[in-house]
Amino acid sequence: MLPVDETSFETVLGERVQDMLDACTRCGKCVEVCPSVVPAGIPEAKSEDLIGGILDLVRTGNGPETSREWAASCMLSGECIKACDYG
Ligand code: SF4
Repeated sequence: MLPVDETSFETVLGERVQDMLDACTRCGKCVEVCPSVVPAGIPEAKSEDLIGGILDLVRTGNGPETSREWAASCMLSGECIKACDYG
């Protein structure tokens, strides 16, 4: 087995994350189809605010509590991926 080059892995991962941050329009479609929003107890939250908070969390490590609650409630349905028009 070849040794894993952690620097290359981290660089590639960072570039992928940046690509996602750049591609997201904050349209909120991923939130609207998400089956975790109601179980998370945040059905009143605006979709655009929730995803905006997620982007802040990914970018800076800090973000609003409602976005943290949404992320923590993820049940891996994959509905968000299917809903996104921007990859
Ligand atoms: S559906 Fe895609 S582009 Fe729209 S907010 Fe979600 S991740 Fe961003």
